[in-house]
Amino acid sequence: MEELIDIEKERQLIQRAYRNLLKTLKSDLTNDDRTQIRLAYELAVDAHSKQRRKSGEPYILHPIEVARICTEEIGLGPTAVICALLHDVVEDTDITLAEINEKFGLRVATIVDGLTKLDGVYDSDNPQAENFKKVLSTLVDDVRVVLIKMADRLHNMRTLGSMPRHKQLKIAAETSVIYAPLAHRLGLYNIKSEFQDLSLKINEPELYNEIIEKLTVTKAERDRYINDFIKPLTYELDEIEVPYRITGRPKSISSIANKIKTKQVPFEEIYDLFAVRIIVDTEEGRKEKLACWQVYSIVTDVYKPIPERLKDWVTTPKSNGYESLHTTVIGIGGKYVEVQIRSERMDEIAERGFAAHWKYKGVSNQQDVYDAWLDSVRELLEDQNGDAIEFLQDFKTNLFNEEVYAYTPKGDMIILPKGATALDFAFSIHTDVGYHCMAIKVENKLVPMSYKLQNGDQISIITNKNQKPNEDWLKMVVTGKARSKIRSALKEDLKKQGLIGKEMLERKLENMKIDFDESVDTLVKFYGFQNRLDLYYAITINQVDLLLIKQLKVDNKKLILPEPEHVTDFNIPVSPKNNLAISKAGLLIGGDPAEKYQYSLANCCNPVQGDDIFAYVSMGGMKIHRNNCPNAANLMSSYSHRILKAEWENKTNNNFVTELMISGIDDGPGVIERLTTTISSNLGLNIRSFNIKGEGGYFEGKISLMVLNTDQLQVVIRTLKALKNVSNVTRMEG
Ligand code: MN
Repeated sequence: MEELIDIEKERQLIQRAYRNLLKTLKSDLTNDDRTQIRLAYELAVDAHSKQRRKSGEPYILHPIEVARICTEEIGLGPTAVICALLHDVVEDTDITLAEINEKFGLRVATIVDGLTKLDGVYDSDNPQAENFKKVLSTLVDDVRVVLIKMADRLHNMRTLGSMPRHKQLKIAAETSVIYAPLAHRLGLYNIKSEFQDLSLKINEPELYNEIIEKLTVTKAERDRYINDFIKPLTYELDEIEVPYRITGRPKSISSIANKIKTKQVPFEEIYDLFAVRIIVDTEEGRKEKLACWQVYSIVTDVYKPIPERLKDWVTTPKSNGYESLHTTVIGIGGKYVEVQIRSERMDEIAERGFAAHWKYKGVSNQQDVYDAWLDSVRELLEDQNGDAIEFLQDFKTNLFNEEVYAYTPKGDMIILPKGATALDFAFSIHTDVGYHCMAIKVENKLVPMSYKLQNGDQISIITNKNQKPNEDWLKMVVTGKARSKIRSALKEDLKKQGLIGKEMLERKLENMKIDFDESVDTLVKFYGFQNRLDLYYAITINQVDLLLIKQLKVDNKKLILPEPEHVTDFNIPVSPKNNLAISKAGLLIGGDPAEKYQYSLANCCNPVQGDDIFAYVSMGGMKIHRNNCPNAANLMSSYSHRILKAEWENKTNNNFVTELMISGIDDGPGVIERLTTTISSNLGLNIRSFNIKGEGGYFEGKISLMVLNTDQLQVVIRTLKALKNVSNVTRMEG
């Protein structure tokens, strides 16, 4: 009986979730949409009926919630809802793509297929670059695949609590490396900051909780300040008779955490904890811009602006569609306050990104921003020349970076990723201009080809038809387009020169009565080249000793490679058992005592007993890193198959190296002496090294010492912080 009640309860829970979802959909749904959504819902309920999530709740609540995020938080329509409801059925249940195609049509089936493939990405141990490629290929097929995937990932991140720790870390790492930047690029700012916040919560729970707590404690004070700040503005704004609303809200937890870490300041010293936003409700089009500048004028009449901090994305939107006017002013008590000014339409784009942008397509001057971006994604994917690592690099510089704007002599604007060079500019104008680029002038002054573009530069290219690319050019460009054009030009060149080598080889083999076609690939391997072209070229320039061919066996006019020595994939180096030389470490790796392995503590992050850690297996052996090591996210997402779980078993008497950054007021020898006596005499710890430099009454020092564990480390930090004239003590992140 009890079980029956539970089933009934769950049924109600599921129906409530579904009704909630329907509420988020616009009322302008057609009857057909409604029926299809209902059909998808029923199919998913049925297909997932026997599954549960790790948390124990019925599985179907997950797809329903993903669908809700799609409509409510990303602004997608009925097709996306249907796909979201079905996104896990092919992967996890007996339903096939063919059935989905039959019931919901090809569009839905294609999207669900894309989502299923992306699921593989998440579980597999593929190199990161391959994962990126997969995500991006689906992106260019139908952006909705990636948007629904974002919603899926968001819900998984929100409910990550019931997963085992090592899975949490991997998912968090992948989220911050792939999905957060992608969300940013698609203008989904809210989702991006939530991704970053949730990743921080998993990687550095202490810091995360500390910030949450302090934000709560200081809320009343902050609200009061915001109110006082806003009041004089509202008097003036009421005059202009454009409806508006003002909000003041704290910045994201991860951005506050970043400030604490990069600027090495405590929470209390971060001034711009929040931003004030003024949103005007005006007719779409020209009036929006006018209203924004009118508000800007009022704000800067009331408060003194810092001119360098003015950012005008109203005149020139960001290439992810973001439009807004940002200014920083000096508020009450000399505090810096960032004020963001935008229209309701701009705000919707800022909040919902891509989907909202589509809705307004044609309203403003920016209809092509995503098209242009998707084109550049396509271009990058089609470039077959580069290797995976380079692809990743291109991906990061070309697709995620902010832009720089430069102009041709005629005044045409060219948008390139920040960091792009004058040579990139040449290639973006036309491939031939790039190929034959001789010299480059910025504002009529000659600059090197590797000159980094600045916003507003006017650039002219001088060409010469005898000029052609060389290897060095590859180092002078950052855009995927320029790189792939240069590379294919070099390849052409190689091919031409290789012809000579090819003929030499043909003659040689003919003399030896060996069949060319049957043997050439054997020779490529024998000499250790990647492909035939490289071999031919090396022969042309005399880098290959053709006499060595005689060492090979010949069978039926065919060259045979000697049996290769057995090459093994690298193994985890295991030391002989009963090796007593290694002391008991109190460390478990992959559940086994660490003594089983040859390992060392990574000196990029210097883990100490008590830190959250993981083990990373590389060619050089096994290294223990801290979870918040700056290298960790990259290692975990790219090489997850090389990661082993590591944990401290118990406290030991081992000493660990740790490094502290100390800063404060330089009062002569006093402060250094206070520091060293406190550490060595009062705390009784060994100092390994101490570097200090002072300037203008301020000092900064790096101290390396030995501690037993994180508890002791905390005591050290607290004690040193309390010393006179010491203003900050932090542990080095790496
Ligand atoms: Mn899912």
